[in-house]
Amino acid sequence: MKNDTLLVALAFIIVILCLLVCVVALWQPANPVLPTFSPSTSAPTVEQTQASTPPVPEPTELVSTFPTTTATEETTTSTVHEHTYTGKVTKAPTCTASGVRTYTCACGASYQENVEPLAHAYVIAVRNPTCTQNGCTTYTCKNCGYSEMELGESALGHSFGPWSVKKAPTETTTGIAERQCSRCQETETVTLPKLG
Ligand SMILES: [Zn+2]
Ligand SMILES: [Zn+2]
Ligand SMILES: [Zn+2]
Repeated sequence: MKNDTLLVALAFIIVILCLLVCVVALWQPANPVLPTFSPSTSAPTVEQTQASTPPVPEPTELVSTFPTTTATEETTTSTVHEHTYTGKVTKAPTCTASGVRTYTCACGASYQENVEPLAHAYVIAVRNPTCTQNGCTTYTCKNCGYSEMELGESALGHSFGPWSVKKAPTETTTGIAERQCSRCQETETVTLPKLG
């Protein structure tokens, strides 16, 4: 009888333990959702081990995926990197057209900036007035040849001396008289009419 009651007690305890175990076992998968993920994460490991059996395609895929990730890392670092620009005139300005200065960073980034046109490099030539020509000042650019003229003094006009008869007129022939400019030696000639 004692043994029977002991067995019953033991069976009861075992049943209770089983129930406890069942409750614990039911709680564990129900409580966190994560454990349901762990089988799915264990599934890729199974796939990986399966993939490792055909060794050729899987490693190449891995190798091909690695450079792309490093490439994206490089692009992200390039956005962080502070550019150090060095300026260089890539198109020289002329007197009238603006040039271009290109700033380049070692990373390949670059931007451009206008360079103001140069001022004309004038060579100034002053021409004094002559008997017949006005004076002027000429500004000629030695770089592009552009030139501007500024009017100076007016022409002076000839400074003639007195008339001198070179050939005296007769009753049958005309004569010739001349006068000369003292400045430019321009000679003016007139015909003297016949006498009588
Ligand atoms: Zn840079
Ligand atoms: Zn010029
Ligand atoms: Zn003259």
